[in-house]
Amino acid sequence: MVNRPKIKKKKLLLISILSLVLVIGAIVSTYALTMANTVKVTSEVVNIRNGPGLAYDITTQSRKNDRLKVLDEENEWYKVSLPSGETGWVASWLVENETVSAASNSKGKIISTLANVRSKDDINSSVIDTLNKNREVTVISSQNGWTQVTYGKVTGWIKSDFIEVAGASTEDSAALQKLTIREENTNIRDAADVNGKLLETAQPGTTYDIIGSKDSWYEVKTAAGSKGYVANWVVSVNENTAAAKPTVSSLSEATIVLDPGHGSNDTGAIGVDGTYEKEIALKTAAAIKAQLETTGAKVIMTRSNDDYVTLGKRAEISNDNAADAFISVHYDSTEEANTASGTSTYYYNDNAKDFASRINAQLKVGMPLENHGEKYGDFQVLRENASPSILLELGYINNSFDEQTIDNDAYRQKVANAVTNGLTNYFAN
Ligand SMILES: [Zn+2]
Repeated sequence: MVNRPKIKKKKLLLISILSLVLVIGAIVSTYALTMANTVKVTSEVVNIRNGPGLAYDITTQSRKNDRLKVLDEENEWYKVSLPSGETGWVASWLVENETVSAASNSKGKIISTLANVRSKDDINSSVIDTLNKNREVTVISSQNGWTQVTYGKVTGWIKSDFIEVAGASTEDSAALQKLTIREENTNIRDAADVNGKLLETAQPGTTYDIIGSKDSWYEVKTAAGSKGYVANWVVSVNENTAAAKPTVSSLSEATIVLDPGHGSNDTGAIGVDGTYEKEIALKTAAAIKAQLETTGAKVIMTRSNDDYVTLGKRAEISNDNAADAFISVHYDSTEEANTASGTSTYYYNDNAKDFASRINAQLKVGMPLENHGEKYGDFQVLRENASPSILLELGYINNSFDEQTIDNDAYRQKVANAVTNGLTNYFAN
């Protein structure tokens, strides 16, 4: 059971920072093994991880239009070198391979009589082609006096002195991304943290230039011209990115945050036979976790013991881990015992409607309790959550029939199976 606020706040519109981008075409070919490939970030912000998969920790982030040098490739992930010199792994579907999609790159023209095209940005690397004066190529990037170019099926490096690049440099021409404030009295702080000093407040419709990102926060230039931070779940970066699409295509790639309700002095509802909601919520979440982990999904619990965790912290754990889905687990109760029975699924944000429906569809079948469908619910753990998030009420703890039905391993396993099947469908569609 959850206390519902009496006054409904204006609904938060949330964005998903990452938009799903399809990689078009395949990697070219002739010199694929020797060339220094570059990829360009096509999502607003992408996570750089310490291994080739979503289960690996996020070490840093990269922004739209950043060019990353590819060092290795594994399981549709690229190992890349960042402009800062750090290396890490990025999902191939969030970047664009420069060798196959050069539409946004600058054109260049050879200005020396002859120019060697080399496999690397190194005078000692092999010559893979030679170009004549006035030959036009597409410029991918420049570094250390070398320019990476592509033409036909060839990608290679030319001494920057031998080539004239048309227009502004590809690195400088990218316009700053802007974000738009969606929530009234949005706080702009001096640190990427809700405890950061308040610099100014902004109203819906106000726009800011994005100059960076940290955790779940955007770094922006304040009206006064200083550096500030705004939480990414109260802003919109681009109307087109405010979609509800999952960023992963299978449960095995997903990070799921499970949130057993209540804990410690907050017992939650208490049953007719003395069952504590906080205890069975934790047992149920543990059963769901075990079942989800058999699929390869990464599961994070907001509490694994009888701990007190604030509602704000629970949402923050979801945001900080960029969860692909968040599920809060509760058991319901009424003021008067034995007056209600059954299960319900709640969502708050638009990006969770489909998710709620997929999970609830599984709670309708083969379960011992009646299902009351998916509904809108104004809960803090959902309201402050940028991830698709739902809250499950899995039976009335102060109904004698429900209480007997829900407090056993068989019921918890049924719930675990239903949630796993619902998530599988959600990510596959
Ligand atoms: Zn509860």
